[in-house]
Amino acid sequence: MIPYHKTTGIIIKVRPYGEANKHLTVYTRAYGKIHAVAKGAGKIKSRFGSTIELFTETKLFLYKQQNRDLYLLTQADIETHFKNISKNVRKYTYASAVTDFINTFVPFGEKSRSLYELYYNTLQKINTEGHEDRIFSMFMVKFLTQTGFKIALNLCSACGSGLSRNIRMAVSPKHGGVVCEACSNGISTVEVYNNTLKLMELMQRKSFDALANLRIEDKSHMEIEKVVEHFLEYNFELKLKSLKVMESIRNYGA
Ligand SMILES: [Zn+2]
Repeated sequence: MIPYHKTTGIIIKVRPYGEANKHLTVYTRAYGKIHAVAKGAGKIKSRFGSTIELFTETKLFLYKQQNRDLYLLTQADIETHFKNISKNVRKYTYASAVTDFINTFVPFGEKSRSLYELYYNTLQKINTEGHEDRIFSMFMVKFLTQTGFKIALNLCSACGSGLSRNIRMAVSPKHGGVVCEACSNGISTVEVYNNTLKLMELMQRKSFDALANLRIEDKSHMEIEKVVEHFLEYNFELKLKSLKVMESIRNYGA
């Protein structure tokens, strides 16, 4: 196998490594999520400069060490710098929350062109547009679909029967979608407004741009978060750190 690789990736985690190096987690187009070491990147005058800053999309030249899952970064060039994200606390917090999904739920080495596009587009929207809460909700709904846990919203996901639309509806992570009244008895469900389900159905189907003018109440954002959180925890048995941060943004209006 050729040990040299070239791809584009977004830096999703950076930490000091040894005396003068940095350990990176990068979500790449070609190889999915990888670990890489940037030697000397911890020095003040590092040749890597801002190419390996968090949320930067970078063109990477990598050397894969034999029998190791660690790549060595030999050269890096900036592809996209999301400059508003690094300057604005609110945007930075939303970008961190989105990135937490990639860090937590995407397995190493699993490549997905469409998930990469979703992540990149989401960062770009956060960088250039307002209404970060809408962008975040759309990302969450689309992320579930991309990772194979699209929420079934049209028929009862337990018995398959048609649903009578009440104001409040029950969603079951175990059954993978909305459940009818009869099936919701005695099982663990998340209760949301039918209106929230309608929004989620639109978000599954339509692009960011198609829903650019969609008005969403805070209440619906919170319900979407709640549903997505329960689905992810049920299916991955892992917890996100960032949703609490989102709560504090809403409460204090950062
Ligand atoms: Zn049912």
